[in-house]
Amino acid sequence: MSAVLRPGDAEEVARIVRDTARRAATRTHSPLHPVSTGLNWGLGSGSPVEDGATVLDLSRLDRVRTLDPRAGFAVVEPGVTQGALAARLVGSERTLNLTGASQQTSVLGNLLERGVGLRRSRAEDLAGLELVLADGTFTRCGWWPDDRSGTVQPHGRGPSLNHVFTQSAMAVATAAVVRLLPRPEEVRVLPLTFAASELPAAVDTLRSWTAQHLIPATTKVYNPVAARTYGVADRCLVHICLTGDAGLVAAQARLVAENAGRHGSPFAPGPPYAADGHVHRAYAGLPDPDDTLFLRKTGCCARCLDTARGLLMFLPVIPFRGSAVARASELITAALRGRTAAPGVTMNVLDADTIDHVVTLGFPPRDAQAVADAHRTLDRLHETFAAEGHLPYRPDIDHPLPRPRGLLHERLRQALDPHGVFARGRF
Ligand SMILES: Cc1cc2nc3c(=O)[nH]c(=O)nc-3n(C[C@H](O)[C@H](O)[C@H](O)COP(=O)(O)OP(=O)(O)OC[C@H]3O[C@@H](n4cnc5c(N)ncnc54)[C@H](O)[C@@H]3O)c2cc1C
Repeated sequence: MSAVLRPGDAEEVARIVRDTARRAATRTHSPLHPVSTGLNWGLGSGSPVEDGATVLDLSRLDRVRTLDPRAGFAVVEPGVTQGALAARLVGSERTLNLTGASQQTSVLGNLLERGVGLRRSRAEDLAGLELVLADGTFTRCGWWPDDRSGTVQPHGRGPSLNHVFTQSAMAVATAAVVRLLPRPEEVRVLPLTFAASELPAAVDTLRSWTAQHLIPATTKVYNPVAARTYGVADRCLVHICLTGDAGLVAAQARLVAENAGRHGSPFAPGPPYAADGHVHRAYAGLPDPDDTLFLRKTGCCARCLDTARGLLMFLPVIPFRGSAVARASELITAALRGRTAAPGVTMNVLDADTIDHVVTLGFPPRDAQAVADAHRTLDRLHETFAAEGHLPYRPDIDHPLPRPRGLLHERLRQALDPHGVFARGRF
């Protein structure tokens, strides 16, 4: 068990870091592991990589400090959940790029993970960070509203530093400037289905549609296990999200239907319930206080998931090619150990060349053998995918990236945190 500190504001965070830094100088400290809401399910939730760390739980820092829909940004603290920020934007000209996780998860925590949003990578939503460095001093990087430039520019001017602190463990973030999306006139999610045996052809077709801009690079493909969440049995499901001008969306939807209906196409139109109102609301960035989709996916609420369900995730990045995705599917099946059930797999198109996979291993958490089997399966997934050059874009606490990470990385770490005030992270 790790000790947990729950500061109430950014000043208290700085005091804790300064205190830890004093003790780090004499090597009598417990390194800090900052989390925002700590709901990083499947990758370790709020737990640190190594025992002995102190969890710095920032969920009480939950102020939306600034909201400017006209300029397109919000300044949020770590405890601001995606549901809370989405609720503040209702009726405005902007929306939040929601993820498929619970509405209770942190906007800032997911930005720092470079998570996957429904409309684009969360990394693209980050404009600026307020940080407490390892000596307890405050600093900022990226773009801030009180900079002289009134236009949101995520890279700021000069060296672009925001992403030194994403997938990093070199500072505590006490606030972030988050970019907001223009609210689209129309949001339409088209459900298509295909037989699992048609996976290579379906992926190649989606790749060609994406490369030619018939559809945006936000498509999700669900294997038959994951498709059950949306009421689809024994087939794979595709969600294609079209957004923008209503006429354009209608024309695009017609073209997609024409292409999907061509002779030899692997696709069939999905039933309307496979992309119902809740799915549309999520892509539109609308809040859902009932967390309906999350409940459907996991069978329980955000607060009970860690105790009620055993969950491990493997997140490899795969080339967006039918043959590569089919091979990934073979590797997943071959990795299953003992009684581990066939996993739900969600494939997220990231661009015309890349499709990440979310492989979710579920198991009963109080069955020791099932727990061991799931962990053996995860180990095997890491081994076999790595052997074919497919690495996860986010590792879990049992599979942190190896060190050292190269000269520049080590020099940055030495410069920013020479005494190890912050606990070893996963990256
Ligand atoms: C059903 C389901 C669906 C999901 N869908 C998605 C999805 O669509 N997209 C996606 O990306 N993920 C998804 N996830 C995974 C995960 O739940 C989310 O990524 C979630 O946002 C991460 O938890 P969090 O927001 O509480 O971040 P936290 O757990 O608070 O933070 C994540 C990590 O960031 C670092 N960190 C956090 N805050 C700070 C800080 N203030 N300063 C310094 N470092 C910090 C820490 O290393 C921490 O471990 C899903 C999970 C489930 C179970």
